[in-house]
Amino acid sequence: MYSKILKAIWTVAILVFFASLFFIMTISYSYFTIFQKILLRNETELAAQGVTISGKEFFDKLDTANYRITWIDRDGNVLYDNEVNSEYMENHLEREEVRLAIENGYGESDRYSNTLAHRQFYSAKKLPDGSILRLSIVQAAVWTLILGFMQPIVIVIFIALILSFVLSSRLAKNITEPINEIDLENTEKYYGLTEYKEIEPLLRHIAAQKIQLKRDKEQIEETALIRQEFTANVSHELKTPLHAISGYAELLESGLARDEDIKPFARKIREESSRLTTLVEDIIDLTKLDSGDGSRVTESCDLYRIAENAIDSLQSTASEHEVSLNLSGNKAQMVAYPQLLYSIIYNLCDNAIKYNHKGGRVFVSVKQDEKYTTLSVKDTGIGIPLESQKRVFERFYRVDKSRSKEVGGTGLGLSITKHAILVHKGSFDLTSQEGKGSEFTVILPNRQD
Ligand code: ADP
Repeated sequence: MYSKILKAIWTVAILVFFASLFFIMTISYSYFTIFQKILLRNETELAAQGVTISGKEFFDKLDTANYRITWIDRDGNVLYDNEVNSEYMENHLEREEVRLAIENGYGESDRYSNTLAHRQFYSAKKLPDGSILRLSIVQAAVWTLILGFMQPIVIVIFIALILSFVLSSRLAKNITEPINEIDLENTEKYYGLTEYKEIEPLLRHIAAQKIQLKRDKEQIEETALIRQEFTANVSHELKTPLHAISGYAELLESGLARDEDIKPFARKIREESSRLTTLVEDIIDLTKLDSGDGSRVTESCDLYRIAENAIDSLQSTASEHEVSLNLSGNKAQMVAYPQLLYSIIYNLCDNAIKYNHKGGRVFVSVKQDEKYTTLSVKDTGIGIPLESQKRVFERFYRVDKSRSKEVGGTGLGLSITKHAILVHKGSFDLTSQEGKGSEFTVILPNRQD
């Protein structure tokens, strides 16, 4: 960064310097040209007086190294010219400066001299006898001027280069030093300081990113911990039915079981196997939800119809528990993941049946407004104690482990439900009273845009 800033400042300084130099040279050159013309006019006036007094003799004593002097009679014939032989010269009356001098007493012009092949300044004066005296000078070329200035220019360039290098390196250091000294752990202390005004948004951004990173890290650690706990719980939950199965199988194999025990043992094995199957299915569902299954696509579906289907398939369980199922509401068209909607309703109704009294009731209702669809599953069951209400959505959490086992629970139903609701960007609420019953309310957006 330092070298980049240094280079930028230095380049700008050098560019500005050369631009100024060019500008100054251009102005000097035009000033020099004007000055040359004024000088030529003065010289012409003086020479005119000299020729008026001394005639042609005036030229004999003259040192005319830089000037060309031409004397023309009133008919335009060249009487004298110090550079070109007057005998071979054409009539000069048509020359602009001569014409002006004849008309006004004095005339000036500048052009390329055909005779001398240079850009020349001409200045002509009419003498009292009607003849014209003309002085001309070669216009100094730009290079002549630059060459004349060469030495001071080189010195100035040299000084400017050194100065701009020293100043730009100091400037670059002044800019980069405060930035290098920033303590990124405590960016707040620079807020409001004039020295850091320009980079304050950057510092705030860094601070915000740091907080975000910290949060992300905490979340990753938390997720890792949950996974670890989950794996430990899964192995534990799998072990219990497996031990039971292998225990009963061993008894049957050894021949120790009495004839009348064979049937109950076989039933136990079947029950534990079906528990295992449910558990494995739940684990697969949860793992799918956790990994954010990319193949999942939204579909247009009707939540009311899905509720009807779920209730249909739970009818036999409900009769087994002597619980009645009631559905109310209307068609609720949604764009959502129908499979997940089904598992939400199924799990909530399944629990409402399982944790109910004989003769208990379950009320399912589906309502829809412009933006949201609300599903409510209410039961007249055993209810959930207040201290457990927050925890029932945790994986493998069960209020009464033995009751859950008895009814074939895995402790995963509500975590699957919660996950499926969150996938839909929905929300949920639980109100429950021990001994009276519970109500789970789920609010889902009608569309997943
Ligand atoms: P499970 O497979 O054990 O039913 P869930 O995750 O579905 O697991 O529920 C967790 C626990 O929350 C259950 O074990 C039960 O104690 C309690 N619970 C869930 N729904 C109800 C309900 N409708 N009434 C009473 N208790 C409930």
